[in-house]
Amino acid sequence: MSEWDNSGTAVVWGGEEQRFAEGAICLPVYNAVTFGYENVSEWFDVALGRKPGHVYSRNTNPTVRPLEEKIRILDRGEEATSFSTGMAAISNTLFTLLAPGDRVVTIKDTYGGSNKIFIEFLPRMNVEVCLCDTTDFDAIEREVMRGCTVVYFETPTNPTLKIVDIERLANVAHAQGAIAIVDNTFATPINQRPLTLGADLVVYSATKYLNGHSDVMGGLVVGRKDLVDRIFHYREITGATLHPHSAYMILRGMKTLELRLQRHNENGLRVATYLAQHPKVDRVFYPGLETHFNHAIAKKQMRGFGGMLSFSLKGDFDKVVTVLENLRYAHKAASLGSVGTLVGPPRTTSHVELTERERANAGIPESLIRYSAGIENGDDLIADLDQALDRV
Ligand SMILES: *Cc1c(COP(=O)(O)O)cnc(C)c1O
Repeated sequence: MSEWDNSGTAVVWGGEEQRFAEGAICLPVYNAVTFGYENVSEWFDVALGRKPGHVYSRNTNPTVRPLEEKIRILDRGEEATSFSTGMAAISNTLFTLLAPGDRVVTIKDTYGGSNKIFIEFLPRMNVEVCLCDTTDFDAIEREVMRGCTVVYFETPTNPTLKIVDIERLANVAHAQGAIAIVDNTFATPINQRPLTLGADLVVYSATKYLNGHSDVMGGLVVGRKDLVDRIFHYREITGATLHPHSAYMILRGMKTLELRLQRHNENGLRVATYLAQHPKVDRVFYPGLETHFNHAIAKKQMRGFGGMLSFSLKGDFDKVVTVLENLRYAHKAASLGSVGTLVGPPRTTSHVELTERERANAGIPESLIRYSAGIENGDDLIADLDQALDRV
């Protein structure tokens, strides 16, 4: 697939081929809230969408629009729109597409915030939510075939890197006339393109790999035009708009997306392989390892396996504290997908609100450490882990 291989060019030029004022080679940050027209009938045409242009920055903005175009090109979508955060992208998408009486089928392992939308907010709107066991594709299929409006999942999942078969679930969703939505935050369009596997919509937290530097938040939705247009309309009215400066920062970060992902993929695989043979490590969760439960599906649908992994230690939580506190090249912080390595235990971060038993039911060991491998030198990351594990 040649288009697939030109992503190094698309991350740089996609959406940014136009000429800018004064010959500037960088897209200006248009802070303007509103856009003026001398010709009132032209203003009217733009406001009604009969002519291209911008009217008010809650709706569209000339710095934000190229970002939407870049992700559209990278993901092979028909249309894209943007949001102030990843959760705004996800919640606006679900609230646009679901109405009282509808049913949505999803998985237990969605991102914490998305899971809250499913268990707390959607039921309040009288939407029936079915949370399936993430790795039991037969059970998910059966639930989809009982009828639903939306099938929502992510792959790889957080924090145990489970893999969901995108093509299989998109097919069964379509057989039911349902919309298939994939959160592609972990993989990015460099490693995985759900739209080309049949998904209708892809959602992103641009806060993570897309921006890549942990210094700005944003969200994106890309896919079928009829659906994105409806989601855009919901967002332009309810107002979770991306700031032009944030859009600029994400566009800047995305220019190195392919280069960064190459290193993230390499470091993720190297660190996972190292940990898998370490005597103090109990289990390693990484889709690139041949021992991973769904490695074959990961291999089929991903170009690289990413920089996210998790591992558990033999023994209790004290050992996790020892390892974390002795790591030099790792921020002990929430979030992921940054140039710098980030580590944290799900027990006190993403899954702190669950009881020990609920974590066990979700397949999350108490001594699990989530590791977002950055783009540092891989030898340094492994040497750092080695000395920290030595102290256990
Ligand atoms: C972080 C994250 C989100 C939420 O994104 P925000 O930008 O923090 O709102 C959604 N999905 C996944 C997989 C994430 O990692």
